[in-house]
Amino acid sequence: MTKVQRRYDTLAAAQNWKPSKRNGEEPMKITKIFGENTLQLEELRERLPKNVWKQLSQTVQHGEELNSEVADAVAVAMKDWATEKGATHFTHWFQPLTGLTAEKHDSFITPNEGGGALEEFSGKDLIQGEPDASSFPSGGLRQTFEARGYTAWDPTSPAFIIENQNGSYLCIPTAFASYNGEALDHKTPLLRSVEALNKQAKRALKLFGVETSRVNSTTGAEQEYFLIDEEFYYRRPDLMTAGRTLVGAKPPRGQEMDDHYFGSIPERVLSFMLDAEKELYRLGIPVKTRHNEVAPSQFEIAPIFETCNISADHQQLMMITLKRIARKYGFECLLHEKPYDGVNGSGKHLNWSISTKEGMNLLDPGDNPHDNMQFLFFFASVLKGVYENQDLLRISIGSAGNDHRLGGNEAPPAIISAFIGEQLQDVFTQLLNGGLKNSKQGGLLGLGTPVLPQIPKHAGDRNRTSPFAFTGNKFEFRAVGSNQSVSFPTVVLNTIVADALDQMCTQMEKEREDQNFEDALKTVLHDTIDECQDIVFNGDNYSDEWVEEAEKRGLHNLPDMVDALPMLTNDKNVELFEKHGVLNEDELESRKEIWAEQYLQTLNIEVDTTESIAKTMIYPAAVRYMNELAAVVDRGKKIDLETTGANNMLATVNQGLNDLDKSITEMRKAVKKANGDSIMEQAKYVNKKVVPLMNKVRDAADMLEWHVADDYWPLPIYREMLFVK
Ligand code: ADP
Ligand code: MG
Repeated sequence: MTKVQRRYDTLAAAQNWKPSKRNGEEPMKITKIFGENTLQLEELRERLPKNVWKQLSQTVQHGEELNSEVADAVAVAMKDWATEKGATHFTHWFQPLTGLTAEKHDSFITPNEGGGALEEFSGKDLIQGEPDASSFPSGGLRQTFEARGYTAWDPTSPAFIIENQNGSYLCIPTAFASYNGEALDHKTPLLRSVEALNKQAKRALKLFGVETSRVNSTTGAEQEYFLIDEEFYYRRPDLMTAGRTLVGAKPPRGQEMDDHYFGSIPERVLSFMLDAEKELYRLGIPVKTRHNEVAPSQFEIAPIFETCNISADHQQLMMITLKRIARKYGFECLLHEKPYDGVNGSGKHLNWSISTKEGMNLLDPGDNPHDNMQFLFFFASVLKGVYENQDLLRISIGSAGNDHRLGGNEAPPAIISAFIGEQLQDVFTQLLNGGLKNSKQGGLLGLGTPVLPQIPKHAGDRNRTSPFAFTGNKFEFRAVGSNQSVSFPTVVLNTIVADALDQMCTQMEKEREDQNFEDALKTVLHDTIDECQDIVFNGDNYSDEWVEEAEKRGLHNLPDMVDALPMLTNDKNVELFEKHGVLNEDELESRKEIWAEQYLQTLNIEVDTTESIAKTMIYPAAVRYMNELAAVVDRGKKIDLETTGANNMLATVNQGLNDLDKSITEMRKAVKKANGDSIMEQAKYVNKKVVPLMNKVRDAADMLEWHVADDYWPLPIYREMLFVK
């Protein structure tokens, strides 16, 4: 059988996929199953002595330290709960800087004297683990000869159970650090940034006479993804190794018709969604929304927001679950930011706000003048943080995958700006131009109205092109990549806002020495807005005028990840992160190194895969077709047949093949030159020199796809991958 027929077989198999019916299972009742696979504080209350539970809940809610007796008691309760649910093993579940999650399983089993076995799990096992961590990236933080790192239990995020049809295991969320305590993961800085934000936000609230035990940031991430039939997936080496198509011509019909977005969900996809959501509910992940996205075969799932640490864990779990369940339905779930050229890519809108423990959303305008003043203070602090740290926000969303998306006319550009909407813009303008003068007349800061105008919270009023948009009671960071962990973007937001609050509180305290509260506040707001107003942009972020305008304003424009990443260890950023105890200089250096290396590795894989597909799949197809054409031309001569068509086609395909050959040679030559420099230099070189050549190879390959006989073409094509579902 030729390869060619295999492609058509694939197509047939994909088209004929039938979901197997779930037999005998009751319909899903969300309230009944919600959280049944997570160990919540409430469940532990029933399993622990009162005083132990109290101490644990102090730890969970206020970050107080945990003693070993409590840990022992919790460990036993946890093991009992897990084994009742059929778990045989446990793992410290952590988030190394690969952006994925890691786990090493240990069974609960301990042999006893009589030749039998007991199930045991101690407080020590719970609190600390020692994965052999030498193969996780450390960016120089950990010498390989002392490869040990340790994982430390995060009691603030609930343990959960992952099931398999042959058994299940207990996952304990943990942080991952080197023996010197340097963070090797995403969770540690996240927890530290929460502390920084908590401290400064409480200080700010105190100025407004508000006492609270704790302030945290809340996040909810809307996840976009593609589904593709796995028959196609396994026939695409590029999807399998790089997560995206490295060659592939645009289909004659893509998303131009805009008929997919919010359209009715295809049957098989819906079956998958329902099943995935069920698993997520059982894990206590509050998913709320599902819909078709803009591109064909693209979808979105969004949870209700939670405190940022739990939400970040849930985000990781959600990605894992989507991928896992998709398989059951004959799909592969693609989380890459840009699986297909020429159709929209996938992002993850990170909704972010700040909230007190009592549930007061500090970015909600509220409906009285006092709340409004407080709102404006926090709101201005976010803009100030964003203005002063555009570089960090840009770095936090950088990856080889997201580079394909940012700046395309589908995703927010790489220039960081904030959308605040007309009403708030108006408030700002008034604050800047004399709205301050007649404050004595009462009303909000002399604006003449007792409360802020209603800020619309509905989609129609939003600016879809902004990378960072205020949407009524939260900010939406839209430039985040679909495949990335939301932790670092959240770390950056928490830290830069903590820092802005710090600065603003310091100024407030100073102004208060010779002004009353309201005047002091006006001065601080005026100065803050005056200083950072250039970050506000309410217009079309996709327009060329904005690029020019942003440059005039002196905003950063960092189109590629490698342009931004070196800035991570600038003096300003080291100072900022160290001041708030979030990351020290070594930890920042290591992150820079790791991310540059990841970029390089990704590109290496892409280059190799491109070359191999071109040489082993596309060349042969083109040559076979050329043979056929040449035979026609030959025979034509003998029987006096006019063969211009075949001749032209032969010349065209031949030209395509020559172009392909030439561009591969150029690409390979360029890659060889990249060796030798520092990792960051290599990454930059690859970005500027190799990527354009890879695109040239793709152009040649795609040109061939347009011309070579379809039944010779070995790769599933866009039309098939995007429209068969
Ligand atoms: P919208 O109308 O803006 O889409 P939704 O209420 O549907 O608003 O929320 C979109 C996403 O924003 C959801 O994931 C939601 O949980 C999240 N979100 C809503 N409020 C907050 C908040 N205060 N903090 C963080 N995320 C939030
Ligand atoms: Mg959205």
